[in-house]
Amino acid sequence: MKLLRDKVMTEGIVLGDQVLKVDSFLNHQMDPLLMKEIGREFARRFQDEGITRILTIESSGIAPAIMTAMELGVPMIFARKHKSLTLKDNIYVEKVYSFTKRESNEITVSKKFLQEGDRILIIDDFLANGEAAFGLARIAEQAGASVAGIGIVIEKSFQPGAGLLQEAGYRVDSLVRIASLENGTVSFVEEVHGQ
Ligand code: 5GP
Repeated sequence: MKLLRDKVMTEGIVLGDQVLKVDSFLNHQMDPLLMKEIGREFARRFQDEGITRILTIESSGIAPAIMTAMELGVPMIFARKHKSLTLKDNIYVEKVYSFTKRESNEITVSKKFLQEGDRILIIDDFLANGEAAFGLARIAEQAGASVAGIGIVIEKSFQPGAGLLQEAGYRVDSLVRIASLENGTVSFVEEVHGQ
């Protein structure tokens, strides 16, 4: 996705060899026009999958997920990272290790909003080790739903998440794929179709 790739090139800040900061358009300030395009692109890629619900994790997954949900005309649910006082019982819970915060969170989703037979599209902002995506997939599967795919805005392909998820049988579709962040420079994985 050229628009996204250009944003990463012009506004992304490389922190060490592992972390990309994109808080001017994705993780803090958000660019609504870019989010709209991201939603359109995920919807185009998954339009034939019979998606019934989008599942993401708060907070940075919410914007791309809601835009995708709007395009596909289905509800969006976000997993909570902190226990809510109003969400105590009847919840699915999974442990997820946070890549950026270096701590484990129990993520929760109310049982009300996932149904057996649902076709779930998981959306997240970044893919690193795959912890968040695996946690969301386990929640969908606890509910008896199937995971149609995992849509990622920025995949860091030099980290193991994408490979592990694909080995586990999941379709992973990433809008941009980063080959390396070494020497403070973003290098993209070459795309065959010139995306
Ligand atoms: P994973 O669970 O795949 O190890 O990491 C994905 C999660 O960690 C995403 O939900 C995202 O919030 C965060 N994350 C991972 N890598 C980065 C990064 O390079 N930059 C930012 N801003 N967040 C990241």
